[in-house]
Amino acid sequence: MPKVIIITDKANSSRLKFVVGFIESCFDELVFEFAEKTSDNNINEVFVVYHNNLDHFPSQSIVWNQTKVLDLTPERWPLPSLQQVGDSQILRFGGGQFDLPAAVFWMLARVEEYTSIIKDQHGRFLWSNSLLSREWKPVKPLVDEWVDEWANAMALKFGFKLSRKPEQKSWSVGIDIDNAWKYRGKASWKIFAGFFRDFLILRMKKWVQRLFYLTGSSKDPYDVYSDIKQWNFEYNRLIYFVLAGKTNKYDGPVYSTLEQFDTLIKTLSEQHLVGVHPSYDYLESNELLKAQINKLASITRSKIISNRFHYLRLKLPDSYRFLEGAGIERDYSMGFADQIGFRTGTCRIHKWYDVRQERVSELWIIPFCLMDRTLKDYLKLDPGEAIDTATLAFEQVKKFKGHAHIIWHNSSFDWAEDWNGWEYVFREIMVKMQMIFEESRS
Ligand SMILES: [Zn+2]
Repeated sequence: MPKVIIITDKANSSRLKFVVGFIESCFDELVFEFAEKTSDNNINEVFVVYHNNLDHFPSQSIVWNQTKVLDLTPERWPLPSLQQVGDSQILRFGGGQFDLPAAVFWMLARVEEYTSIIKDQHGRFLWSNSLLSREWKPVKPLVDEWVDEWANAMALKFGFKLSRKPEQKSWSVGIDIDNAWKYRGKASWKIFAGFFRDFLILRMKKWVQRLFYLTGSSKDPYDVYSDIKQWNFEYNRLIYFVLAGKTNKYDGPVYSTLEQFDTLIKTLSEQHLVGVHPSYDYLESNELLKAQINKLASITRSKIISNRFHYLRLKLPDSYRFLEGAGIERDYSMGFADQIGFRTGTCRIHKWYDVRQERVSELWIIPFCLMDRTLKDYLKLDPGEAIDTATLAFEQVKKFKGHAHIIWHNSSFDWAEDWNGWEYVFREIMVKMQMIFEESRS
């Protein structure tokens, strides 16, 4: 495998280094180096010329020339182009020229989110608000496709094949525990009051559920931990993200003051990874977040290094700077609430780039490809469609040898209420994941 030398006057650009580092990490044996000019002598070197400007979009297309350098003019580059809109760093697709590093950077760093003021009622940047939603199908990992186009072009020109480097682990599941239990731990008068209310308003399924719980005939509907255990997930294949504080009504009845809660989380942590699920208003103070992390660390007696934001409340760059400040090393919140797919355009694990401070951080982003509530509430899919949609997403991840992470909730196993009819969906999705990814390993 020859070395790929990038001839550029941007060798000091932290943006270019970030992009190049990402592309390098996608392939086996790919090594990039920067240089000022091409050399004639070494047959083990090929050249890519890049004199564009990642700081001022749009930059001109990648220039490829000379004997050992690919000549790829924009007309021959079968990809969309990016254009600047006004003075901001917002780009739109269509027309103009395509600049691969600029486009990859724009996606990985989520540049459009820095300038967008449109958010939903939870302060979230949604797919429907993204420029991507106007031009692309949600399930496509765009960056991965672009990078593959580049790899194919390299293969055609130079006669060597770049092969995708598989992520260490091809799939994982994250279960968000907003409420450890539905009834357990609540004052008895509240449970009884609910019991009569359900009866009076003829909410019979819930009434029966409560009756069974009160008479000890069935366990708490959110108490699904032993069922999940039966799946025999490897230790780090499953992560429980636990809400351990209450700052807002959206945090629900948090059980973190109960001793049973400590016992539950301790037991879960002996079987699987535990991450923090910060309370709704975590951005109010970094101390608040640190206190919740410390609480979980003391229960589990281990360092908490993984995070997923409750309600996916991710605000760039503040949220990620908070995580860095609290010692978190891995974030699992990168994805859209209202659409499946790949918010940074990739199913590969990558570092977070802080656009305002112009630096590559040490924080790893593990993008997720789908969430239970997205399938049911936002996309309004029926169970069969949900399984088919999930399968499409997993096949994309398999294609690029990335990592498929999915979000489920312990409350999504509550068949008496809005998950009625979804009894087999999680199980089917697990079967699909195992089938698709076990296959890809062989
Ligand atoms: Zn949550």
